[in-house]
Formats: sequence, structure tokens, C-alpha cells
Amino acid sequence: MVSVSFPYDAPVSQTLFDRAAIVTPGGVNSPVRAFRAVGGTPRFMVSGSGPYLTDADGREYVDLVCSWGPMILGHAHPEVVGAVQAAVARGTSFGTPGEGEVALAEEIVARVAPVEQVRLVSSGTEATMSAIRLARGFTGRAKVVKFAGCYHGHVDALLAAAGSGLATFALPDTPGVTGAQAGDTIVLPYNDLDAVRAAFAAHPGEIACVITEASPGNMGVVPPLPGFNQGLKDLCAADGALFVSDEVMTGFRTSRAGWFGVDGVVPDLMTFGKVMGGGFPAAAFGGRADVMAHLAPAGPVYQAGTLSGNPVATAAGLAQLRLLDEAAYAAVDAVSREIRELVAGALAKEGVAHRVQTASSMFSVFFTADEVRNYEEARKQEAFRFNAFFHSMLADGVYLPPSAFESWFVSTAHDERAVERIAAALPAAARAAAEATA
Ligand SMILES: *Cc1c(COP(=O)(O)O)cnc(C)c1O
Repeated sequence: MVSVSFPYDAPVSQTLFDRAAIVTPGGVNSPVRAFRAVGGTPRFMVSGSGPYLTDADGREYVDLVCSWGPMILGHAHPEVVGAVQAAVARGTSFGTPGEGEVALAEEIVARVAPVEQVRLVSSGTEATMSAIRLARGFTGRAKVVKFAGCYHGHVDALLAAAGSGLATFALPDTPGVTGAQAGDTIVLPYNDLDAVRAAFAAHPGEIACVITEASPGNMGVVPPLPGFNQGLKDLCAADGALFVSDEVMTGFRTSRAGWFGVDGVVPDLMTFGKVMGGGFPAAAFGGRADVMAHLAPAGPVYQAGTLSGNPVATAAGLAQLRLLDEAAYAAVDAVSREIRELVAGALAKEGVAHRVQTASSMFSVFFTADEVRNYEEARKQEAFRFNAFFHSMLADGVYLPPSAFESWFVSTAHDERAVERIAAALPAAARAAAEATA
């Protein structure tokens, strides 16, 4: 799992990575970018256009990461770039309210019915952190239920995914998070309503909220089983806890109204990021007006941000959302289906056990024959086959997420030419997956 196992074919990226490692821990500003799961040299990208990325060595890739979701219109979409250029020319930050943030909030409220009020922040992490604080402040309760394999950003209290047993009190996943910070977090297996029922029975009146990815994409794509989200909502309502749906990944991607637009389950609070920022740092949390009224300055729960509602970020997000009509979602769904079928066909041809799981246009490929319903099942896949598959695709100009436990993302810019390039790369990658050994 080190770079020597792979062709050394990205010399400029390697030089940049070496430079980066001197001044930045591990050479990256977000761990997955370092390629540790798959090995090899992370590609340093210099530009993007439509469905393509170009790296520092001048090689072009079909991009199936799309910045982990935000670039749903492809890279450097002219209308988004135009909105950004116009905003930049007017000044980049004022530290005052501005019309752009009002317009973006109105767009979110108009699209997502459960959101009566929304507060803008700068990252998904901030959104979930603030939603948890608000849920605790509103209910006067301390405990938070989350699910193993669900990622909600690097919030201290939510960086606990260990222990899949019933109502296991989480041990922190990382040094630097204290037992006190994670001690009120209860981690349960995903898609298991009985475990949630047991947690409420064990801690009546103590749970502030249940937080879940609306349809998880951070353990690979593992959609909720029918009735799971509604069951969470009902159990929360029966106990006076809040149901927090994290739509940072699915929001404005899986439909106009995100995953809410797919399953219609009404959360008390929701979190957003990724697509809504148009490639800039913009995120949000919102929901019931009576809950949001507890937020400062309207209420006592403190929350703030120097760059919250930044005019450039809100201009980018608003321009992108306004282009995301039903036709755009139909387009990403269609191209996603096309790519899924090509991948499944290539793997089947080589006899590689696999399972493609989807949530609208989000999908991932698990290297196992069995349905994946939770993190434990996700971890049973033969990830070593993904790593061989990944490097073959990369060598043939297709940029996949550098981990077997991530969603793949497409954009409206993924056209027939891009799909043909993926199709051309697949046979060799499927063969590499078939021949891979642990
Ligand atoms: C990406 C993500 C986050 C964190 O967002 P950042 O902007 O990276 O802080 C939170 N929740 C989910 C579901 C995500 O996919």
C-alpha cells in the first residue's frame, strides 16, 4: 500500500506532494486526498472543465468525484463562474448582512418544505455541530444518537463510530476527543430500528436528537431501508427528541429537495453543504421555526461566523441552485444509470462479485455479492479489489474516489464522450479487480 507498488507516472504531482509533506501534515488538507487507502501518488489538479480534471502532469481525467459532490453542473460552469466574477468585483466580504444570503436562504426554504428558517455557515461540519448544539439547547437534553458509518463532519461529539452493539456508549475514534466530548454520544448500527427503540427505552427523556445521513454516502452508498427514516422520526417524536437529517451530501443532489424530496420524511432539523455552495465554502442548517427561534440573536443558543453567508459563496451557490431544475436532475440520474450499468457489466464479465448501490444519482460499487445495509456489512467487502480497479481506471484517465467506502458523483456535464472514456477504461480495470489478491 505504498507508492512503489504503482507506476510512477505522475512526476510533477509527486514533486508537489513531497513539497506539501514538508509544510502540511501528510501533504494534504483533508485526509482522503492523500490516497492512503489505495496507495500511490495523489494527483494534484490544476484545472477543471465540465466533466474533466487536468493534473499537474498535464493528464486529463473524467472526474467521478466532482469535489465530493458539489460540482453537480461540472467544473467551471460558465453561469456559475459569471456569478462569482460579478460578486468578486463588488467586494469579497463585508461582515454585514447582504441580499445574496437572503436570496440563498429563500431558495433553500422554497425547495425543502421542512425548512422554515435556515442559518448559513461555511462548512458541513459547522452545520452539524450547530444543529446538535441547537437540539441540545432546545430540548435541554445531552445525549445524541448517531449511526456507525455515518459521517457528519469532524465534530468532536460525532467522531465516535466505534462499537455496533446495542446502545454502546461510544469511545472516541480519534485522539484529541475526550471521553467527556463523546460520552453523550450513542452509536448504533445503521438500518436497525430495534436498536434505536432500545436506546430510547434505556434513556427515556435524555436523548436530545437522533442524527442520521438522510441516505448515507460516507460508508459507500447505503440507502435507508423502507420505513427506517420514518421510524426514526416517530421514535424521536414519541420521546420529545429531535430528528436531525444530515443532507450535506444528498441535499440538492438526490432531487430538487434532496433526499427529503425522495422519501418525504419530515425532519425537525436538516443540514446542508456541498451542492449548495457551488464549489465554495457554504453550508447551512435549518428546520422548524420554533426550534430555529432558539438561535442567537433571536434566542439563547449561540452560533456565529465571520464569513457566514459570504457574498461570493452565496452567489456561487445561488447560481448553481437556480440552474438545477427537474431536467438537470433527470440528466444526472440518466448518466449515473448508464455508468452504473457499464461498471456492473464489466465486473460481471470478469466474474467479479460486486454490488452497485444507488441513491438517485449517487452510487458506489461494493466488492461483495451481498446487500450492504450497514457499516459492518460494508467492511466485509473485498476492498483490495477496489484498489486494483481504482489504479487501472486512474491510469486510463478516470478519476474515482480513492477509497472503496465513498460515493461516486456525476454531473450534468458528463456527456457521451465522457461516458465513452469510462467505458473504454472499464475492461482492463475489471480484469485488474478479478486478478487482485489481498
Ligand atoms: C461532507 C459531509 C459533512 C461535512 O461537510 P464539510 O463541509 O466537509 O465539513 C457532513 N455530513 C455529511 C453527510 C457529509 O457528506
